[in-house]
Amino acid sequence: MVPPPPRGARTRARLTVERLRDLYPAATELSHENPFQLLIATILSAQTTDRSVNLVSPELFRRYPTAEDLAAADPAVVETLIKPTGFFRAKTKRIIAASRKLVELFGGEVPNKMEDLVKIPGIGRKTANVILGAGFGVPGFAVDTHVIRLTNRLGLVATKDPVKIEYQVCSTVPKEEWTGLSLRLILHGRRVCVARRPRCEECVLNDFCPSSLVRPKRRRPAPAASIAGPPSSRPVPTPNRPA
Ligand code: SF4
Repeated sequence: MVPPPPRGARTRARLTVERLRDLYPAATELSHENPFQLLIATILSAQTTDRSVNLVSPELFRRYPTAEDLAAADPAVVETLIKPTGFFRAKTKRIIAASRKLVELFGGEVPNKMEDLVKIPGIGRKTANVILGAGFGVPGFAVDTHVIRLTNRLGLVATKDPVKIEYQVCSTVPKEEWTGLSLRLILHGRRVCVARRPRCEECVLNDFCPSSLVRPKRRRPAPAASIAGPPSSRPVPTPNRPA
C-alpha cells in the first residue's frame, strides 16, 4: 500500500511546479526527432550523460533510422558507433533487442501505452514515462535518481521507492503537470540540487524546502514574558540539512 504524502506536501508540490515552470522547459536533453529515437537514446543514456548520447545518436540514426533497420544491424558496427557512451557491448545488445521486440510486437512502431512499453526489454516504468511524456505528450511522471533525491529533500514524499514516489506525486499534482514536473526536477537536480552539496543559496525553492541549507528554521512563537527566561536560553535557529 502506498503511504500518504507528508503533511504540507500538496502546497510544496504546487510551489515547486510553479517556480520550476518559470526556469526550465518541459523537455528532455536527449536529442530526438521521434519516439523511436527517444526510446533508443534513453536506453543509451544509462550511466552516462545526455551530452555523450547526443554526440553519437545522429550517426546511429542516420545509419539505422527505423526499428527494422536497427533490429537487423551488425552488432560490431553498432558497438563502434556507440562506444563513447560506455558499456557499449551491453547497450548494443539492449538497443538491438528492443528494436527486434518493437518489430515483433508492434510492427516497428513505439507504442504509446505504459503496459505495452514495459514489454520491451530495457524499458522500465521510468523510461516508459519519459517516452510517454516527451515522445507522445501523454502525462507521465518519470522517477530517476534526481527525482528520488529532490522529492525527498522537498518533502513531497518520504520514501526512496520509485513506484511509491510516482503514485504519491501523481496524487498531489494535476495530471497535466506530471511530465513537466518530472523533467524539470531532473534538470534542477543536475544544475542546482546536486547530490553532494545542493546549491541552496541559488535555489528558487529555498524559502519552503525543508532541506534548505540557507533558510533558517521557522522561529517558534515566543513564550510568555514571565516564563521566557533570558534571551540566551531560547532556542537558536539552525539550518536544516538535506535528507
Ligand atoms: S533548497 Fe537546497 S535542498 Fe531544497 S531543493 Fe533547493 S537546492 Fe535542493
